[in-house]
Amino acid sequence: MNDETNSIHGHEYYDDLGSRIPPIYLSSIFEQRGEAKKSDRNVDLKYSREENPTVRYLEKAVSKLERAEDSLAFSSGMAAISSLYLNFLSLGDEAVITAEAYGTTIKLLSYLSKFGVKAKVVMPNAEEIASAVTKDTKLVFIEAMTNPTLKVIEIDAVRDAIKGKATFIVDNTFLSPALFKPIEKGADVVVESLTKYIAGHNDVIGGIIAGKKENILELWETRRMTGSILSPFNAYLTLRGLKTLFARIKVQQENALIIAKYLSENPKVEEVMYPCLETDPYYQLAKKYFKGCGGVVSFKVKGGKEEAISVLKHLKLIVPSPSLGGTESIMTYPVLSASSTLSEDWKKKLGITENLLRLSVGLENVEDLIEDLEQSLKNV
Ligand code: PLP
Repeated sequence: MNDETNSIHGHEYYDDLGSRIPPIYLSSIFEQRGEAKKSDRNVDLKYSREENPTVRYLEKAVSKLERAEDSLAFSSGMAAISSLYLNFLSLGDEAVITAEAYGTTIKLLSYLSKFGVKAKVVMPNAEEIASAVTKDTKLVFIEAMTNPTLKVIEIDAVRDAIKGKATFIVDNTFLSPALFKPIEKGADVVVESLTKYIAGHNDVIGGIIAGKKENILELWETRRMTGSILSPFNAYLTLRGLKTLFARIKVQQENALIIAKYLSENPKVEEVMYPCLETDPYYQLAKKYFKGCGGVVSFKVKGGKEEAISVLKHLKLIVPSPSLGGTESIMTYPVLSASSTLSEDWKKKLGITENLLRLSVGLENVEDLIEDLEQSLKNV
């Protein structure tokens, strides 16, 4: 089946009544008389902290979209990422991560120094990543399109530099499997914050890891021990959101391109970052790897902190808030949210300045969004 079809039917749920919508299995317990019943991946189905049928339906659908052998859903993107660290890293290991990534992802890796894990934070480009990899590197973590300045990394070169020596993890949250499939490019594991495009309605917190069966089984044990499985209700909402992923992202990225062009011509704007703009330095790489650039557009307003905050304060329709990928358009101030944990030095090197704003384009009428941007930028 094609992806759009799998986003709707990929859960494979069907019952004797003919119901086609997966039910929410709220039961925390399942009967166990001797050996427990097994789920389709041959793990015990006896207790919902470990395995739950509604969560399983979501995992099946996402595995197909990611071209993964299996996947595991978590209570948040960070729960998924922390389980990856716990599973793949031990005392004395090194892990390479790009300085431009979700701030908490970097902060958590650096925090692991207290358990003897060394985090090497590098510039988000293939050369720097490759030169940081040593015989002690056990994990390399990148974002397919970086947060918040939307850089695109030459993923083929990263994969070739690792040559299977370390686990290659790609966070695909900004694109979703609708636009990019890191596993097809040699990633061992892909992680997504379901909170964003996949659930898509700003009403779920969740995360998912997709990859090889053997890794997923090890991670299943980590999820079981840490108690970080997604709740059945959030799995249901995510399955519901997933059905419209392709339709949503199509409109969101069409509107994002219109807005990126509008912002490029606005005299109050200094710079626009959107890799699908022909003038963007990452245009060729985005074209090479992605089916589209998604709904996030970053831009720098002329001026500094005062001007950026003034834009946020004057928004009437776009919600000033930290997140992305939902039906409501959201504007984020990265230096006070996703990038707040970065040092001044790193922010400078990465171009994360005090006049930078990040806009996640939702599903509102694009003219209404432009009108809101126009009136709020006029106040600068
Ligand atoms: N990865 C990226 C790229 C993110 O932007 C975020 C959150 O903003 C996360 C991971 C963490 O996801 P969650 O908020 O679902 O824990």
